Amino acid sequence: MTTPVPLPVAPLADVAIVGAGLCGLALARVLTARGLRVQVLEARSRLGGRVLTAQCEATGQALDLGPTWFWPETEPRIAALLAELDLSSIAQHDPGDALWLTDPSRAPERHVQAGGIHAGARRIQGGAIRLVEALAAALPPDTVRLDAAVTALRERGSFIEITTASGPALKAKQVVLALPPRLLRELIQFAPALPDSVLQALADSPTWMAAQAKAVTTFVTPFWRTAGQSGNAFVRHPQAVLAEVFDCCADSLDTHTQAGALGGFIALNAAQRDQFRRSLPLLIDSQLAQLYGVSAQGGHLFLQDWATEPWTCSMTDRANPPEPPQADPLLRQPLWNGRVFFGGSETAAHGTGHMEGALESADRIAHALARAQAGSPPHAARIFARAQAEVSAASRTSRAAAIGTFSANVLSLRGMAPERYRLHLTRLLVAQQSDMLTQRAVLATADQCYSEALAQLDPLLPGLDAANADVAHGRHALSAALLAPFEGWNKNLLDAALSHNASSCALSNFPQEHRPDADTLRAITLDLAAAWREFAIELNTRLLVAAESGVTA
Ligand SMILES: Cc1cc2nc3c(=O)[nH]c(=O)nc-3n(C[C@H](O)[C@H](O)[C@H](O)COP(=O)(O)OP(=O)(O)OC[C@H]3O[C@@H](n4cnc5c(N)ncnc54)[C@H](O)[C@@H]3O)c2cc1C
Repeated sequence: MTTPVPLPVAPLADVAIVGAGLCGLALARVLTARGLRVQVLEARSRLGGRVLTAQCEATGQALDLGPTWFWPETEPRIAALLAELDLSSIAQHDPGDALWLTDPSRAPERHVQAGGIHAGARRIQGGAIRLVEALAAALPPDTVRLDAAVTALRERGSFIEITTASGPALKAKQVVLALPPRLLRELIQFAPALPDSVLQALADSPTWMAAQAKAVTTFVTPFWRTAGQSGNAFVRHPQAVLAEVFDCCADSLDTHTQAGALGGFIALNAAQRDQFRRSLPLLIDSQLAQLYGVSAQGGHLFLQDWATEPWTCSMTDRANPPEPPQADPLLRQPLWNGRVFFGGSETAAHGTGHMEGALESADRIAHALARAQAGSPPHAARIFARAQAEVSAASRTSRAAAIGTFSANVLSLRGMAPERYRLHLTRLLVAQQSDMLTQRAVLATADQCYSEALAQLDPLLPGLDAANADVAHGRHALSAALLAPFEGWNKNLLDAALSHNASSCALSNFPQEHRPDADTLRAITLDLAAAWREFAIELNTRLLVAAESGVTA
């Protein structure tokens, strides 16, 4: 009689993360540092998701074919993470004239662009992939399984079973879906099925840049700089091939000796790109020549069509015109009794669609998981032992001092709000997103402020001694004191925005923004109230978790 061979038993992970993009990797880094058993399942054979950096052998330049820019003044998380990981950044090169081509039969016009086009944008030196590499380097071996496309999640009582298209199923206590909402709706089956409202919210969340294509061409020299041009160009006629061009040389110094690179977004939609696929390189070459002359011919072209990437672009994104990112707060609510979380940039309250949003959602889920695990003593102890270790003894303060520090931080954030509103507005204008400008810029400013306030709360938790304060009806006694410095904040922010709009030349072509009507003001007020509620609940919850877990000074 043969001895039966036991079937391999799938290991039980504390947390399974679906997707090794920025969100998945940043979250995995935090959770593994807490001592949790984390398994990241990634469909592609590479890390980074939408982050993709090519290397030009001819010129030695790193070329971002996915995300390029971040804005430290409005995107504090990515700026802080780069500093923590010791990664450098360079300013986007903007000095010089921009070119505008509105008629294919005429030469481009030169425009002086005072203050630059990219509103203080910076790039990660060596390409955005450096961030991905640094996050991945912090993970224990075998944390990430590549070529593991997740197809189904099943609730199995004490664990969740995660099925992949290849390889064994995985069991995990909790699951984070760190991939674009539309994609997960199309690719992953849930048992029990997701509620209709959630399915609708997933379908209504466009994947930022998913249907775009990016072209980067390298040259022996950045010849446009020596001609007094910035490398920025805008092509606005029906036969445009590149809609927008920008300088993406490996460094931003104004030297004549370094190699050059021009990046651009393709003007044709996904279906047109399919149709012209073979001739696209030639069309790009001749468009660059029309803008910059013969020096721009014959460069090395790197072309990335994201609409053909099944792990980025959903069928819905591909079939619809690009839409601005918008996150439905419903997607920030966990499902299945706090065991399944939606992550990824498209779920973020601040920085939605951007790298900042990917990091923001990772941070939100890291806190939510700590909350869910706070009930289980071994986990809580592990999580907060580390949190406390990170706070040096010197920085532990008394409760009054911690509240004072938080209040001072809030006052400083309030002081920065008018300038930040202006920056958010400028960025929307630069990105040519002219719909609901005031509403979006006000909300982005509020969300940024809340996001930073929460980040500033974390190191103060030991000093706040939340475990030794009353909790009544789910409300932590310290909530009121911490929220007090926000008194009148929504109204002040809206007043500052309206006063800026009334005197803004940039808004002179947008009368509805110059003086928004009563309906618009009502909509903004409702948005602000909803954002405030979400923030106040999150702050209270962080105090409750700290209290339950016994975080003390
Ligand atoms: C051309 C382009 C330009 C951009 N420019 C900028 C910019 O300048 N600045 C900026 O801040 N942002 C920019 N972005 C957006 C930025 O890239 C994203 O916000 C960010 O990278 C999103 O990270 P994420 O982890 O949320 O999602 P993703 O990077 O999309 O990661 C999701 C991961 O999930 C994986 N996955 C998908 N399906 C499955 C499955 N079934 N099973 C397992 N894994 C799966 C994917 O392979 C991927 O690795 C740009 C994006 C593109 C495409």
